[in-house]
Amino acid sequence: MDYLPLHFNLKTRSCLLVGGGEIALRKADLLIQAGAHITVVALEVCEPLKALLASAPHNVQVKAYTASDVLGKVLVVSATNNSSVNQQVADDANAIGIPVNVVDKPELCSVIFPAIVDRSPVVLSISTGGKSPVLTRMLRHLLESLVPAGIANLAEYMGSRREALKSRFKNPDDRRRHTERFMASPGYQYAIDKEFDRADEFLDSATEVQKTGEVFLVGAGPGDADLLTLKALQFMQLADIVLYDNLVSAEVLARVRRDATKEYVGKIGGDRSTPQESINEKLVRLASAGHRVLRLKGGDPFIFGRGGEELESLVAAKIPFHLVPGITAASGCASYAGIPLTHRDYSQSVRFVTGHPKNGEVDLAWQEFAHKNQTIVFYMGLGGLEKICQELINHGRDPQTPMAVISNGTLPNAKIVVGTLSNMVALVRREQLRRPTLIIVGEVVALRQVLGFA
Ligand code: SAH
Repeated sequence: MDYLPLHFNLKTRSCLLVGGGEIALRKADLLIQAGAHITVVALEVCEPLKALLASAPHNVQVKAYTASDVLGKVLVVSATNNSSVNQQVADDANAIGIPVNVVDKPELCSVIFPAIVDRSPVVLSISTGGKSPVLTRMLRHLLESLVPAGIANLAEYMGSRREALKSRFKNPDDRRRHTERFMASPGYQYAIDKEFDRADEFLDSATEVQKTGEVFLVGAGPGDADLLTLKALQFMQLADIVLYDNLVSAEVLARVRRDATKEYVGKIGGDRSTPQESINEKLVRLASAGHRVLRLKGGDPFIFGRGGEELESLVAAKIPFHLVPGITAASGCASYAGIPLTHRDYSQSVRFVTGHPKNGEVDLAWQEFAHKNQTIVFYMGLGGLEKICQELINHGRDPQTPMAVISNGTLPNAKIVVGTLSNMVALVRREQLRRPTLIIVGEVVALRQVLGFA
């Protein structure tokens, strides 16, 4: 190991910062966040640094650096653009054993600043030993996305219950095992969400944390895996069993924890291959057996996703659950196709409507869709396309109203067919579009040309 990572308590300690420019500013910011008292020595101090320093105890000396400046400091940072000054600062600090960092000069440093993910009190530090700042940054982004924003709550919670756990479990091994079981229980997420009373139900339970399962009902977005939310990704790493729909793309599934069991419970075009009741039942059964079940659904679970029904059965069975919204097909497909769903000049409202025929009929409030200046998005509408176009025209919508049918929106094999209410049926027949498809009707469709998407 080239460097030993240590987390340095700088509260109210004296640090020296040599330099008064942009780079010094960044270091000053970090030092102030850590509660240090900074002495800045520089020939000139830039305005933003002055403003920053005003927020914390500090001392500015506008002068040339001299060796005595390092005396009495616990940390020295040199951030000047003068290499002989930087060298001098490093030599002076090293001579008396004070940790020193020279920005961007690893060879002059006894300590280096890692990249950090700050969710204080949880702080993750990442270093490539000064070899590649870009790689360090990449790793930081990766960790940023994997560590829940609420991890600080969990840390606070564990800290506040530490003494109680210590007096309850005299043996450290028992305590560790209990805590590990807690972390694998629903209490973990409750603590992250700052629902400490509910977390206590799991931390306080008998001698053992009961093996209670839970369900994460997560929206996976319309297909492109990069449209997953950070929260979705976090739950995807936590679950041990995954039940997914046919709308969940292969790319998205690939981001689920590798060793999780994945089970397909799709329903295609209303076919009864996996009846909803059996999915509800399965969720309850698996969670009751102590599993962390990820119910992964295309788009958003609460938009034509039957998420409400699944949650009802969980509530009835008293299974803890967490819900994560996803980007719904309308948002994803419209954005990727360059169709703003609303626009001040062309559309003052947007409706999400199911075009799925019930008993062979698409039975909708057609007269409400007749006015122009509104966008109608039909989910599950391919089978009823002819009827949709016909009814809209019959109820007074201009046959020349632009519309788009988007197949596999946001995915590499996306196809977009643009036409009007009067010619779309023929166009779609010619293109032989594959499901899933989304239909967007409204003047806004024409904007994709203006926006350079067509
Ligand atoms: N809960 C989902 C919708 C489920 S209903 C959501 O919020 O997006 C299924 C319908 O969604 C499909 O018939 C289709 O109309 C639409 N859909 C979902 N993903 C799509 C995609 N990538 N491209 C086009 N349409 C999509």
